Order: sequence, then structure tokens, then C-alpha cells
Amino acid sequence: MDAVKPEIDVLIVGGGLAGLAAALEASKVTPRVTIVAKGKVGSSGNTIMTRNGMAAVMEEGYDGDSVEQHVNDTLAGGAYLNDPQLVKLFAAEARNGIKRLIEQGVPFLMEGNQLLRKGSPGHSRKRFLTVDGKGVQSSRVEGLAISRRLLRAIKDRGVEVDDKVMITDLLTDKTGRVVGAKGFRRNEAAAYVFRAATVILATGGIGKLYPVSSNAGDVTGDGYALAHSIGARLEGMEFIQFHPAMILEAKLVVSTALFADGATLRNSLGETFMTRYSPHGDMATRDVMARAIFSEVTGGRNTPRGGVWLDLSGMDPGKLENNYSFLTPLLKGRKMLEVAPAAHFMMGGVVIDQLSQTTVPGLYAAGEVATGVHGANRLAGNALTEAVVFGTIAGREAAREAVKQPPTSWGADEEVAESRLLASPGALKEIRSGLRAIMGKKVALVRTEAHLKEALNEIEDMKKHLLDSAMEDRGQPWDNHQLRLMLATAGIVAKAALERKESIGAHYRLN
Ligand SMILES: Cc1cc2nc3c(=O)[nH]c(=O)nc-3n(C[C@H](O)[C@H](O)[C@H](O)COP(=O)(O)OP(=O)(O)OC[C@H]3O[C@@H](n4cnc5c(N)ncnc54)[C@H](O)[C@@H]3O)c2cc1C
Repeated sequence: MDAVKPEIDVLIVGGGLAGLAAALEASKVTPRVTIVAKGKVGSSGNTIMTRNGMAAVMEEGYDGDSVEQHVNDTLAGGAYLNDPQLVKLFAAEARNGIKRLIEQGVPFLMEGNQLLRKGSPGHSRKRFLTVDGKGVQSSRVEGLAISRRLLRAIKDRGVEVDDKVMITDLLTDKTGRVVGAKGFRRNEAAAYVFRAATVILATGGIGKLYPVSSNAGDVTGDGYALAHSIGARLEGMEFIQFHPAMILEAKLVVSTALFADGATLRNSLGETFMTRYSPHGDMATRDVMARAIFSEVTGGRNTPRGGVWLDLSGMDPGKLENNYSFLTPLLKGRKMLEVAPAAHFMMGGVVIDQLSQTTVPGLYAAGEVATGVHGANRLAGNALTEAVVFGTIAGREAAREAVKQPPTSWGADEEVAESRLLASPGALKEIRSGLRAIMGKKVALVRTEAHLKEALNEIEDMKKHLLDSAMEDRGQPWDNHQLRLMLATAGIVAKAALERKESIGAHYRLN
């Protein structure tokens, strides 16, 4: 076969903020950029579901804040298990990330002619900026205020946008370099092969491995399994943040900035209990708050729906109405809502360097799928900022590397043979719900050695069950591959949680 350039220079897997930022930046270096997403590019993943908080120090020294202070807060929040170099880069680049979004027309809440800055737990200064989500059709998709501007920008720049494609395998050549990816479209049996000089993973987190989660339906931890399958290094997979406060009747998380503005948690006895768990009371970090609620609930002081009360009566009514308008239709005149912890954010993931490169040549990662910035726990507002900062870096670096790649004689022999053995829909459903039940019970907020060992064994059994059920060609390749990736990632999480014996950050071991 003749040596040729692959038709794609940069293949981006994932259409959330990290993927969109990567596409925008890569398109400045090369026109041959393709972005694919399991959902729709720009309206899938967790980005659109956010409360739009972005932490950044816009001006050094302003109001006593500094990049160094943002670094210190992020390291302290992460129990110093963060990669300090990545944290420094993240905090220093945060303001440029925000400016890039503003350049694309992303609207931020203002106070006079300045960006509105709020406080937030774990941040020692007011640096929590908010993208104005009022212009989108529903409070559930406020993040569209970010993503739709970027989607328009990448389309204007000629980026190839391919919706509803699930990447199921990364392809490597004989040297171990990534040379593309394989995937499926929904309801189609044939596999697609994307030949690419470089690949960026921007597949987001892990929430939907759990039964109670704040995450979008397509956030199932695929990127971790994909990277792991070709030998990329993963770290910190035991560190999963549970959002302390998901409104149970609406399945909507509330911004922890509310607590800085006067909201309080109360148990069913009406007690404000947080001071029993932390000297910071309701301003404790998310993991402390989540475990406190868990303890109140398991101690029998739970509300009717199995949570605790979020009491908003101490807040200034004008502030509540103006800055948290998404709550107005839910409150219906009330001042209390039931909240409980939900699987929310993955701090661990694919190891990257300061160029967003993974340990496998040709493979980059950005956004929630990557690790290093948050250590053992994440501060609010740092994830969206991370996605735009490292998405931008990954896009630029992957494109620069891609255009320098020599032509190769990449041939059909590298393609993955497609298995024709597929499990039936019934078997898939059973394994999927079994997996979520195990993760929710045994690999969740409070962990024990016995539970984690059981979980690992059960996940291994499920992997076998999936193969054993694959006797007839009657299921969908999409669903089979989805479950295979979920099982692989679940096993990685359970193993990491078993190996780390001490409690630290979001990882809490009873024994
Ligand atoms: C309810 C909620 C509120 C939040 N609020 C905030 C906030 O206010 N501030 C903050 O900083 N952070 C917040 N976060 C966290 C933040 O939303 C995420 O960390 C961030 O959006 C992740 O962006 P991403 O681009 O890495 O991934 P995502 O936006 O999750 O996008 C992942 C993309 O990958 C695609 N994908 C996944 N697997 C595959 C596959 N196998 N093949 C092809 N495509 C695939 C998906 O379809 C999707 O397009 C919140 C999270 C949630 C759930």
C-alpha cells in the first residue's frame, strides 16, 4: 500500500466544552478536523447541564485575589494529590479561557461593567463567574449558552461535525501510535473507521455508571476504557465526587454558591447539622457535605424522599430571584427543597502532560476524561474552566503534531475485526441495571474492603455474562459496545478504590 496522509488530521471524540474548544483551536492550524459525539455535538454530555459556574482570576491582585491563590485553593481542595504543574497552568490560563468564550459571544452575568464574581465553597476569594443561561429554553440546559456559540464557530470554520457516533475502539499501528478510531452509528450494524493523524479524547466523566447521578445519559466513562485498552496511563480513578445537593423531585443539582449566599441544610428534625461535621458548616467542601447528608439519611433523620432539606429562607429574596432564577419554578413559593447526594464528577482519569498529551503517542485528552488538575477532589467552577483551558491546548498541540506527521502506509490490517456475537436486549438491560446497582451500593460514597472485592468479582462475572449471552446476532452493536466499555471502566474504578486503603478527598474507606 502507498504511503498516504490519513483523511483526518485531528479526530476529536466528544462534543462538550473540551471537544468544542479543541475543535476551534485545531481548526486554526489545519482544516482537516473532525469532531464526533455519541450524542449531538454541542448539545450532549454534561456541559449543557451545568449551572455555568467558571472559576477564574481575571485580574492579578484584584480584590486580593491572585493566580497563586487559585492554585493554592485548588491544591488544598484536591488534598495535594493534584499535579502541581498542571494546576499552575490551569490557573494561569483560566482568564484566557474565559476571554476566548467571551470572544465567541458567550454571555456572562455582569455587575455594572464588570463580570459578576460570586464566592463558592473552597475558593478563598470571589472568583466564581457565571455564564448567563437566561437565553436558553430551559434551566436544565443552561450550558447551551456556552456550547451553541462554540458549535456555530466551529461550523463556520469548516470543522466536520459528525453526530451520534460512538467510538468503541482506538486503533494503533505496530509502534503503538494511535492512528484513528473505530465506531458505530446508532441503529447501524457496520463499523466506521476514522483514520486520523492524532486523536483527542474529550468524552467526559462517569456519572451514568451510578443509579443516582446528576450526569447526562451519554456520560458513561467510555474514554477511560478506550484509553486503558491501548495502554494509556490512568490515575486517581477512585476519586469520584458526589454532588451533595441534587433536588430529588426535579433531578437537578443546585450550585454550591447558594451556600455562600445564605442557604442552609437541615435534617428532618429541623436541625442545621453541618457544623457537626465541619468547622466550615454549610461552606464545607462537597465531599464532606455529601457524607454528612449520607450520615443524616442513614441515621434515620431523612426527609420523605430520602434526603435532607435545603433551606433557602435565610437568603436575600432579590438575590435568589435574580441570580438563581432556575429555582423559582421549582419552589412554587416554598423555601425548602429536598436534596440528596448524586454521582457528579470524576477527578481521576487519563494522565496528561502540559501539552495535554497522554502517555500513548498521538493520543491527547482534555476535560473531565483527563486527570491532574483536581487531585482527590474538585472545587466548584474548576471543571468548565479546565475543559476550555485544556481543550484549547489539546486542539492546538494535536493539530501541530498532526500536520508534521509523515504519510503512512496505514492499511486494513490495523482494523479491528468485528465480532458478530451480540447479546440480546434483555441480557444487556439486566447486566446494565445490575452494574449500576453494584456501583451505587459498593463503589459509592462510603467504601469497605469487603464491598469493593465483591464489586470487582461481580463486575468480572458480568463481563463473562456479556460474552456468554452473545450467542446470537440479534442485539445492537451499539448497545453491546456501550456495555463493554461501561464494564471495563467500572472494573478500573473498583480496583483503584480497593487499592487505596486510606480515606482522602472524595475517596472514603470505612475499612
Ligand atoms: C448537572 C451538572 C452541573 C455542573 N455544573 C458545573 C458548573 O457550574 N461549573 C463547572 O465547572 N462544572 C460543572 N459541572 C461539571 C462539568 O459540567 C463537566 O465537568 C464538563 O462539562 C465536562 O466537559 P467535557 O467536555 O469534558 O465533557 P462533556 O460535556 O460531558 O461531553 C462529553 C462528550 O463526549 C461524548 N462521548 C462520550 N463517550 C463517547 C464515545 N464513546 N464516543 C463518542 N462520543 C462520546 C458525549 O456524547 C459528549 O458529547 C457540572 C456537571 C453536571 C453534571
